[in-house]
Amino acid sequence: MTRPSRYDILFEPLRIGPVTAKNRFFQVPHCNGMGRAFPSSMAAMRGVKAEGGWGVICTEQCDVHYSGNHQRELRLWDEKDIPYLARATGLIHEQGALAGVELVHNGSHVGNLESRAIPIAPSLRPTRGVFPATARAMDKNDIRAARRWYRTAAINARRAGFDIIYVYAGHDMTLPIHFLSRRHNHRTDEYGGSLENRARFLRELVEDAKEAVGDTCAVAIRFGVDGLMGAGGDEDEGRDVVEMLAELPDLWDVNLSNFDYDGSTSRFSDEGYQEQYIKFVKSVTSKPVVGVGRFTSPDTMVSMIKGGTLDFIGAARPSIADPFLPHKIEEGRFDDIRECIGCNICVAGDRAGVPMRCTQNPTMGEEWRRGWHPEHIPPKDTDDTVLIIGAGPAGLEAARALGQRGYSVMLADRSRELGGRVNRECRLPGLGTWARVRDWRLTQLRKMPGVQLLPDNEITGDMVLEAESSLIAIATGATWRADGVGRYHSDPIAGLGRIPVFTPDDIMDSRLPTGRVVLFDDDHYYMGSVIAERLVEHGCEVTFVTPESTVSAYTQFTAEQKRVQRRVMEKCANVRTATALRRTEAGTAHLSCVYTGRETTVPADAVVVVTGSTPRDELYTDLQGRDESALTAAGIRRVVRLGDCLAPGIIAAAVHSGHLFARTLNTALTDRTPFRRENVELGWDQPLPATGDDPLTPSGVFG
Ligand code: ADP
Ligand code: SF4
Repeated sequence: MTRPSRYDILFEPLRIGPVTAKNRFFQVPHCNGMGRAFPSSMAAMRGVKAEGGWGVICTEQCDVHYSGNHQRELRLWDEKDIPYLARATGLIHEQGALAGVELVHNGSHVGNLESRAIPIAPSLRPTRGVFPATARAMDKNDIRAARRWYRTAAINARRAGFDIIYVYAGHDMTLPIHFLSRRHNHRTDEYGGSLENRARFLRELVEDAKEAVGDTCAVAIRFGVDGLMGAGGDEDEGRDVVEMLAELPDLWDVNLSNFDYDGSTSRFSDEGYQEQYIKFVKSVTSKPVVGVGRFTSPDTMVSMIKGGTLDFIGAARPSIADPFLPHKIEEGRFDDIRECIGCNICVAGDRAGVPMRCTQNPTMGEEWRRGWHPEHIPPKDTDDTVLIIGAGPAGLEAARALGQRGYSVMLADRSRELGGRVNRECRLPGLGTWARVRDWRLTQLRKMPGVQLLPDNEITGDMVLEAESSLIAIATGATWRADGVGRYHSDPIAGLGRIPVFTPDDIMDSRLPTGRVVLFDDDHYYMGSVIAERLVEHGCEVTFVTPESTVSAYTQFTAEQKRVQRRVMEKCANVRTATALRRTEAGTAHLSCVYTGRETTVPADAVVVVTGSTPRDELYTDLQGRDESALTAAGIRRVVRLGDCLAPGIIAAAVHSGHLFARTLNTALTDRTPFRRENVELGWDQPLPATGDDPLTPSGVFG
């Protein structure tokens, strides 16, 4: 396949200071939960992306010093940290890509939980760390020292093989942005006051890096250009900063501050959502500009370049969902692009401190530890034929990956429309993009001669025995509970028989209540809030009740919580946090405070319970109840459950479950750990660093 020539512009090489990127696909820095705790996983993940055709691959943030210590990300405190970073740059260079490193000191954003150094900041300020702590104001010695740490890290980064050295001044969480910000910087010396003074530290860091490594490495600034600091924000100087430092760096990587806006989900923003904020940058600098906006459409990418908004197409999430996106565009394989759905489950993995996962790409984070590749999969190595029942995300992914392996597969679903829960959930407010989970897989499946799609087929136990398949995978999903059992209540809520009760399944099947509705959200992810929106659209007066202290508490991990809460507060008549639905009777819901037990009542014509789900596993139970010899006689050697039918969860878990089955033909827990682990090098015999004066630190009177 060849690509139309209008996309050629995406494959033009482009200079960044002293280095040249082979094309305009630029994987901007992104966290991934692997960092220095899982260094081989991190390196392999970056290497796979380089293989997928990205011209530039950057690391996540990388601490320059132990006094700005983010315990989960990368670090380059001294030369001891070079080898694991060099592993990543080596893999990146093997594919002809450039490697960038995002150097950072997190200032008052972190509490230095690991190093226990007192955090530092331009001005005295409480930190955002886990333990209550205050960052002390930096004196001139500290500023000189910080410049030295950045400079040393830049030199060590070059030794590790990096081609682009970032000075990270974004997302309201680094020392340079804290110096720039009036909210953080109350200094009265030459580093405070006027914008020119507040920009001095950033300017010096860039100049130092250029002086140290600028002959061979490009030096980039990553900067949040807008004033969208969330509630309470007051910055309005983004444009002034870019104008002031316009020609200083070799590259501008521009985005929105804070991360909730930069990494906005598809529920709140569409592809290209940052354009209106970053468009001015190219008009004030001659240096190349990279920006993001969940770009997955090659036409949008071309329009960003031709329209003068960007020089490089930046991507974090699109490169996670499809590490091979550039190659697919290059080869004109547009319908093979596995588009990011904008759900931020990747962000949630990182925030939870574990290797990230991706809803669309089940191999993400598994590249090294399981040896999974996003595009290649070993060919079939058994004579099995497979019947999969249920074409939700688990069944679709299992069928797709088995088909790719060359297995003969039948995929049956009782519904006329394949896609399972995704079909229903993508019709809820703001979740339309989630249909991509279904669409990409159906597109692939329709190209596979070995896979038979059987919609409109209710499968029974007897039919399974007649199917002449040796592997039976039951991916029949789950049903939302109507009894209120979930995280808070381990027994059914009393009195539900006396009032109309609805579940998310009812709402998604267009069985909606009317009048005054109490919605009890004990799920804490997206479902409660989108169901509330749907009910309000329908004309219901909704009281939103949750035992958590915030609305949709889990969405703090997907960087959406504040916006979800705002939306629910704006739409619902009443929001009751830290409150449980205790019991109901006709016309009334009894609520109780989760701390004091104090009861209140709310008039209610109906309740909607968003609590837990139960697997739809009748077919599995039916087959399990049969004589094993009947199964053997039918040629069946294994029956497994996949996805929500095994245990209800998020869509990413269902996709992973389907993929795991396709790779292993099993779902059983094994006695031996089925993936590689990285054990930390034992440092027991290392000599302690000398105490007293550090020969690297110029001594002064004040410490
Ligand atoms: P998962 O998230 O685990 O993939 P879903 O709930 O999305 O699960 O999908 C389950 C699918 O299984 C639904 O499309 C449903 O119609 C289908 N299904 C359930 N029971 C049967 C059955 N007995 N025969 C065929 N299809 C079934
Ligand atoms: Fe995109 Fe969701 Fe995958 Fe993140 S987890 S890359 S947002 S599909």
